[in-house]
Amino acid sequence: MPAPAFPASVLRRLREGWQGVLDLLYPARCLACGARALEPHLPLCTGCLRRLERADATTVTAALHRFEGLDPARTVGVALWRFDKGGVLQQLQHALKYQNRPAYGLPLGRLMAEACTDAGLPPPDVVVPVPLHRRRHLERGYNQSAWLARGLAERLGVPADATVLTRPVATRSQTHLDAGARWQNVQDAFAVATPQAVSGRQVLLVDDVMTTGATAAAALRTLQAAGAAGTAFVALALAR
Ligand SMILES: [Zn+2]
Repeated sequence: MPAPAFPASVLRRLREGWQGVLDLLYPARCLACGARALEPHLPLCTGCLRRLERADATTVTAALHRFEGLDPARTVGVALWRFDKGGVLQQLQHALKYQNRPAYGLPLGRLMAEACTDAGLPPPDVVVPVPLHRRRHLERGYNQSAWLARGLAERLGVPADATVLTRPVATRSQTHLDAGARWQNVQDAFAVATPQAVSGRQVLLVDDVMTTGATAAAALRTLQAAGAAGTAFVALALAR
């Protein structure tokens, strides 16, 4: 007689139950001060979260408007926090991006939703993450921006769609490029897979860190060319 197969839902419950036990035994600690974290997927305490520097509301929009081919009337942006090298936010973003902690994206996305509302960004019809190239996605196993988009969309009560925008061109890492080279590197990197999901709609693009804005500008330009009625951008953090 064959062994009874466990339904996937039972296995998932067991895994979640075990994670719950681990969370009780080892409650998440604040990355900055070691105090008990607010919640398992947000490793900061209330005090350290409050001390993070909010980004200036106008900086992102002004930076995006400098890129050619973007329609300023359809372009607005905001970032939640200011990002400093070596700061606690860098540790958090590093964990989210490289240390297999995609679930950090959910509470962070919810905080980003509040930044969008505070800044008066137009209410989106759809939330779209900046995609990774397929190869990068396979290497990392997940797209951190897609997790941010999920948390954000959930809070705003609109759908997140990670299939709208694709990245068919494998670009070089932007890390060591100056502003002009970054734009050259990414300006034709994106494509819209499902124009009907964008056409005539207000689209909110999501990424983790904005440096010069070149990546966001290239993605926004692609969404506008596909007929988006309006495009807004939100980053978790704005690099100095
Ligand atoms: Zn703390």
